[in-house]
Amino acid sequence: MKTKNIEKIISPPPVHFVGDGFRVHNFIPGVYPLSMARMDPFILLDYNSKYFFPPTDKPRGVGVHPHRGFETVSIAYRGRIAHHDSFGNSGVIGEGDVQWMTASSGLLHKEYHEKEFAGSGGDFHMVQLWVNLPAKDKMSPPKYQPITNDQMGKYILPGNKGLIEVIAGSYNDVKGPASTFTPMSMLNARLKKGAKADFGFPAGYNTAALVIEGKVLINSTDTVPADHFVLFMNDGEQFTVETEEDSIVLIISGEPIREPIAAHGPFVMNTKSEIYQAFEDVESGKFGHLEE
Ligand code: MN
Repeated sequence: MKTKNIEKIISPPPVHFVGDGFRVHNFIPGVYPLSMARMDPFILLDYNSKYFFPPTDKPRGVGVHPHRGFETVSIAYRGRIAHHDSFGNSGVIGEGDVQWMTASSGLLHKEYHEKEFAGSGGDFHMVQLWVNLPAKDKMSPPKYQPITNDQMGKYILPGNKGLIEVIAGSYNDVKGPASTFTPMSMLNARLKKGAKADFGFPAGYNTAALVIEGKVLINSTDTVPADHFVLFMNDGEQFTVETEEDSIVLIISGEPIREPIAAHGPFVMNTKSEIYQAFEDVESGKFGHLEE
């Protein structure tokens, strides 16, 4: 297999707040020419690098907002997130867990630090990814896949040098629980110091790695510190990750959908008129209702 070379190592861009609870570096669509189309089907990546939130009795978060046309995938590395939506669904994303929400035809929801976590305060560390849907699935009914850590596929590296958590796709025949609309892999590599792991994906898949903790050496050439994002070229299939210290790396790779993208705020559709329709449908109550 040919090496998948690095196109760009991207430093964390300046933070901004989403609501008052998510202090994020926005990598996609972001600073480097990293458009929604470049990382298709991964059209947005907000990264809350590890940050201490002091105790509060009023949980921080983001109030009622709609989504249509894609999926939101929330990965909680530290801290817990609570959510409620306009169809009566609610839940808590625990530490180490993932929530895969298919917003598709549309819903309103709010996302907050979970009450007890907010009350005690603590380190908060999470990723939210937006995964695009093919045109034919954009108006399918919304659904949730709560993926707890114990449901993830786990590949133990030889010599007990760490493990690969498989959220979606597979790693060395270990499969992840997420059902996806298009082929993709989403992996958490939890690597101990001195580990070496190979990753293989089709050359045409858009592929990236985000160093969540620690420091890694990629393809034996490039050292990548925590909170940095590695965009791979579409030139080969395989890359290696070695660790100089205990590290966590999120790895995403997916087959591009290659359809037109019309995006406005919380709506990602194929045409402008579908965006206008989304605004109208929120107004007319088709997304349901949710109290602040
Ligand atoms: Mn949201």
